[in-house]
Amino acid sequence: TQAAPYLSVNNIEVIYDHVILVLKGVSLEVPKGKIVALLGANGAGKSTTLKSISNLLRAERGDVTKGNIEFKGRRIDQMTPADLVRKGVIQVMEGRHCFEHLTIEENLLTGAYTRPDGHAGIKRTLEMVYDYFPRLKTRRASQAGYTSGGEQQMCAIGRAIMANPEMVLLDEPSMGLAPQIVEEIFEIVKDLNRKESVSFLLAEQNTMVALRYADFGYILESGRIVMEGDAKDLANNEDVKEFYLGLS
Ligand code: ATP
Repeated sequence: TQAAPYLSVNNIEVIYDHVILVLKGVSLEVPKGKIVALLGANGAGKSTTLKSISNLLRAERGDVTKGNIEFKGRRIDQMTPADLVRKGVIQVMEGRHCFEHLTIEENLLTGAYTRPDGHAGIKRTLEMVYDYFPRLKTRRASQAGYTSGGEQQMCAIGRAIMANPEMVLLDEPSMGLAPQIVEEIFEIVKDLNRKESVSFLLAEQNTMVALRYADFGYILESGRIVMEGDAKDLANNEDVKEFYLGLS
């Protein structure tokens, strides 16, 4: 049976600076508890799609000019990024964005600022993040700017987890990282998905790796979804292999 849509993006059009049409009617769904991959080449519109959902678009003079976005059956496209975090939807931006001068632990704690519960709950989640990311525990007192790219990516994901999210929008976690670290990060994402029921919408250029961890995938080309399907089917599809294997 088909799981009920949880996050649904319905035919959105996005324009930057009032003139540059980047998304030309994108629709996608993330069912509860799933990992969905949003794939496509550089510039296809993956980041723009994630930012439309988290509403980080405004800061870049981008506007959703058509369509709508729903989370758990309610419109979310007019909510502020902070309200969305309180509702359980959070984005991990491309390029990691840790606070370089703060320690790893201080970075993680900044992720908890929207939480209504007190110190005890936050401490519990911090310990949970350290269980999932043992490298972060080892590096907890190090300044983030002095940790490796992989550790900074883990820190960015861990910081999102500190907000107790239900839905994480993860932008290009593999960017610039060695294959072995990419696998390590994806294994942890899969673990968080299975054990903590966190759903993920994952934007990736690294098609084949993403399809190994995702349940379902969409392929975006020049602002349109051109193909979608179960991750296994897409990974075995001849067109996908031909177009994207070389890029991964
Ligand atoms: P990448 O992997 O490079 O992030 P992407 O698939 O995520 O690629 P987007 O970043 O969403 O693609 O960009 C889609 C298109 O929108 C590109 O042509 C890009 O130049 C354009 N674009 C992105 N941000 C802006 C902006 N703030 N103002 C104007 N155009 C933008």
